[in-house]
Amino acid sequence: MSTLCYDLHSHSTASDGTLAPRDLVERAARSGVHVLALTDHDTTAGLAEAEQAAGPLGLEVVRGVEVSVTWGGRTVHILGLNVARDCVALEDGLARLRVEREGRARRIAALLEEAGIPGAYEGARALAKGSILSRTHFAHFLVAEGVAESVRDVFKKYLINGKPGHVSGEWAGLAEAVGWIRAAGGQAVIAHPARYGFTAAKLGRLVAEFQEAGGRGLEVVSGSHAPEDNDRMATVARRHGLLASSGSDFHGPENPWRELGAMPRLPADLRPVWADWGGQAA
Ligand code: AMP
Ligand code: MN
Ligand code: MN
Ligand code: MN
Repeated sequence: MSTLCYDLHSHSTASDGTLAPRDLVERAARSGVHVLALTDHDTTAGLAEAEQAAGPLGLEVVRGVEVSVTWGGRTVHILGLNVARDCVALEDGLARLRVEREGRARRIAALLEEAGIPGAYEGARALAKGSILSRTHFAHFLVAEGVAESVRDVFKKYLINGKPGHVSGEWAGLAEAVGWIRAAGGQAVIAHPARYGFTAAKLGRLVAEFQEAGGRGLEVVSGSHAPEDNDRMATVARRHGLLASSGSDFHGPENPWRELGAMPRLPADLRPVWADWGGQAA
């Protein structure tokens, strides 16, 4: 059995993380991670820097991405692991999602302005420093403005469904996103499946459609799951014959409760997504 530490879900400044790809990789190596997937939202822009930084550190970087999907009227995240460089289908698809992000950001800012908070587009844009614009950037701006105490607070008061600054993006279709990932030779994995608040029946429908499209992985262990969620998702993986993945969903050192590589191990009876990977990662 492999004793390597895999962390297959993380973010850098290329999306809504706070560490540059190079600093993320260095931190992962210091934290004892052997194999790290950088999975920024809707972009592969951070991967080259991460790969370059990893070489001398003896850490393996897996080229990843976290694709925004709209399914059943809700946003769902699909991870792509081991995606090839310069795959036109994937890159064109992600480019379309980034255009959607830009339009959504304008709509969020307009709603916040109506709620008495002007300048949010410019504020979030400045914090994003040229990367994709995510709700996290809006949250950091609103905290800096003193509108709320914490990022978590901003989400609760302004940015989630039913709140004044909420705009549901129109993301990729499920089969479409899985198709892009497979076109790039990657493995598709349903990210943090317990986070969506789906009933068992609805999650079962998501998994069935995902498998129909060629998806095979479930993020059983996630830094954004409670321990009992991991157990529940292990059961789902067993029932549907899914490969199991594990990731911290690390966004930066300001959330010290979610450290790189610091997740519980996958249950030993599950087949990990990395079972068939070559090289060090096998
Ligand atoms: P977006 O893809 O722009 O809609 O932003 C989604 C991101 O916001 C997620 O990837 C998380 O990093 C962050 N996020 C979502 N919900 C919350 C929450 N309740 N508290 C803190 N961060 C959140
Ligand atoms: Mn995020
Ligand atoms: Mn996510
Ligand atoms: Mn994530």
